[in-house]
Amino acid sequence: MNRAWLTLIWQILALLVLLVAPVLVLYGRESALLATIGGLVLLLCWHFYQLSRLLRWLEGPLDSPLPAGGGVWEIAFAGLHRRARIRSGQQQSLADALERFTRAAQALPDGIIVFDRHRRIDWMNTRAEAHFSLSGAADRGQALTNLIRHPEFIAYLDAGKYDEPLVFRGARSGRMTLLLQVIPYGGEQTLLLSRDISHLERLERMRSDFIANVSHELKSPLTVVAGFAEMLAEDHAGYSEAELSRYLQLINEQSLRMRRLIEDLLTLSALETGGDTPVEERVEVEPLLQTILGEAQALSAGRHQFSLQIDAPATLRGCASELRSAFGNLASNAVRYTPEGGRIDLSWQREADGGARFSVADTGIGVAPQHLPRLTERFYRVDRSRSRETGGTGLGLAIVKHVLTRHHAALEIDSEPGHGSRFSARFPVNQLMQ
Ligand code: ADP
Repeated sequence: MNRAWLTLIWQILALLVLLVAPVLVLYGRESALLATIGGLVLLLCWHFYQLSRLLRWLEGPLDSPLPAGGGVWEIAFAGLHRRARIRSGQQQSLADALERFTRAAQALPDGIIVFDRHRRIDWMNTRAEAHFSLSGAADRGQALTNLIRHPEFIAYLDAGKYDEPLVFRGARSGRMTLLLQVIPYGGEQTLLLSRDISHLERLERMRSDFIANVSHELKSPLTVVAGFAEMLAEDHAGYSEAELSRYLQLINEQSLRMRRLIEDLLTLSALETGGDTPVEERVEVEPLLQTILGEAQALSAGRHQFSLQIDAPATLRGCASELRSAFGNLASNAVRYTPEGGRIDLSWQREADGGARFSVADTGIGVAPQHLPRLTERFYRVDRSRSRETGGTGLGLAIVKHVLTRHHAALEIDSEPGHGSRFSARFPVNQLMQ
């Protein structure tokens, strides 16, 4: 017999022993019968009262506390209370799991839109909101194809062939290129994944521009070399000594130009594949700058005046060959873009913040302000023919910028057209060794 029946029997026995039996002994059988009826009515009222409390609780708010009952009702209320606790625990763990899932979906680098078979939006993460300029709250329940109306996208959805992703350039948010993938699941639902591939496209464009530039740069010297070689191969006896030596000189110049270009390309490629940080050597600044000065003077062949000023001996932390290439490029540019008779001043100075600055100042042709931000781009030249005439490859400052970035240094350019330029490499204090 369970506890509920036992409690009920105890209540009736208590009524009989405590009320009916004394009345029977004191007042006789009729009074005992009346006492029994009265007692049962009281018991019934009490049960109705407990039942009405239970009904009130059932109609009340979900989180209202269970009323405390007595007797058999206490058992019923305790049972209900236990069930309610288990149910709310289950709901809480479900809510927690849902919350965890939502947070994971929000953290994904891809956009996600869930829609039903009528293409009505069910849910989306913030990345998808950004990709398509949608709002998860406002656009829920809207038809996806009303919000993303691009014909290419609609045709892709209609075709239902989702093995290949769609490259989508119609994103509302600017000039973004998205890779879209549709994944049907669970019969009714479909996932739309979107990934921003704009940077990959940009890289691809840069790569093909670079190849086009390199081919273009190689094409003209190669045409000259091939042209003269063919000419001389056909009829080499028909030319005078002077003509022959002139043509061979041109072939030589153009071959040198191609070699310089290839060397610069190899330097750039080595810098790019050489890891994030260069080798760490002790680079004594003074002998390095003496070498740079010597090379610049040799290139100038007496056409310019030079000075080198070092305010205090210093040692840099970094890769000697990379620094030599960067400083050498700045000095050779000064020679190449400064007309005969000009001045070129190399200097090394400590800065107030503990860092140091290597500067190359010239009195050359200078650079107009609109060109300054682009000077370090590969193959960017202000005056293409002047650069070529002086043996430029258009890669010098790109190499400088790369080397300086690897050494946590910055390139600063001050220039005034017609008056001269100052190219400075600023090194932070922790690139200097004591
Ligand atoms: P280039 O081989 O053409 O010199 P760089 O990358 O070294 O290539 O330089 C890019 C361009 O910056 C040059 O073509 C030139 O127009 C300009 N430039 C660089 N250094 C100087 C300078 N000292 N004075 C004037 N112009 C300069």
